[in-house]
Amino acid sequence: MKILITGGAGYIGSHMNLKLEATNHQVCIVDNLYSGSIQAIKNSKFYHCDIRNTEELSNIFETEQFDAVMHFASHIEVEESINQPAKYYNNNITGTLSLLDCMVKHRVKNIIFSSTAAVYGAPEYSPINEEHPVKPINPYGQSKAMIEQILADYHEAYDLNFMCLRYFNVSGTDCHKEVVVPRRPITHLIPLVLQAASGRRESIAIFGSNYDTADGTCIRDFIHVNDLCDAHLLALEHLLQGGDSECLNLGNGKGFSVLEIIEAARKVTDKTIEVKHCERRSGDPAEVVANAERAQSLLAWQPKRNAIEQIISDAWQWELVLSKHR
Ligand code: UDP
Repeated sequence: MKILITGGAGYIGSHMNLKLEATNHQVCIVDNLYSGSIQAIKNSKFYHCDIRNTEELSNIFETEQFDAVMHFASHIEVEESINQPAKYYNNNITGTLSLLDCMVKHRVKNIIFSSTAAVYGAPEYSPINEEHPVKPINPYGQSKAMIEQILADYHEAYDLNFMCLRYFNVSGTDCHKEVVVPRRPITHLIPLVLQAASGRRESIAIFGSNYDTADGTCIRDFIHVNDLCDAHLLALEHLLQGGDSECLNLGNGKGFSVLEIIEAARKVTDKTIEVKHCERRSGDPAEVVANAERAQSLLAWQPKRNAIEQIISDAWQWELVLSKHR
């Protein structure tokens, strides 16, 4: 099969590329290299193109004749989205509309969309299943929720089939992958904790120690990027076999607090990790954990790297290489 990956030079897209290549699919990557790295692309064909450029994108569709699309290209930083909503709505929504219009024009019927647990906003209960109300609380989550709605509308009008995969906290790396230096500042917990372990930063800031949780710090559900990519391929196969278009959670269903992550990282790395207790970060819910039973049963998906030590240890291999680049 020939698959277009938008955002294939980024963190998740480049792992997806590896997975598809390993399963003998043909991949074309379209990426504007705003945050992705050209080095992340191995053997796949690459087009340096912004998906908002509909004319250029349409020419690529005409040349390549894709069978399906995996759509990762988007801006993803919550805080930036609050300060610069126009940037998020413009890039994420306009880019997706341009992509979908090319799909309709060139009769490409199946799309896997990179969505997020941020569409749920502040959880009303946890673990969160797909029936939880969609009530995003920042423009990043809102842009993803709007795209989910657009996909449902395109499904009705143009028979476009979709799977929206709502990611919880994605981490880890494919250890066999050549390490790619991220081009945007890192904001996520596990890589930052590991920077504190490698000495690239002095300490890790703990954003809030007075939440209503067992140890007072926030609880999240971490999923290995390779398990996430496995689910994408299964989701595509589901659509190709005529399965229904749906939104699915991708998480492990097990929560770890910020303090538990730091403690696990100390054990995995055998390093000292200094912590600094700081104010809460605005908009952070106390607990975000997935109920991912629907994805597991519908796709016969079983996360294989769900031990937190494995997720952290794979991320540590990456950090060890990155820290030599400095
Ligand atoms: N966090 C933290 N220090 C950091 C980065 C994150 O304490 O330097 C906390 C953050 O407040 C949240 C959790 O770690 O409770 C996960 O944050 P992250 O940004 O990794 O993902 P999010 O859950 O916000 O998507």
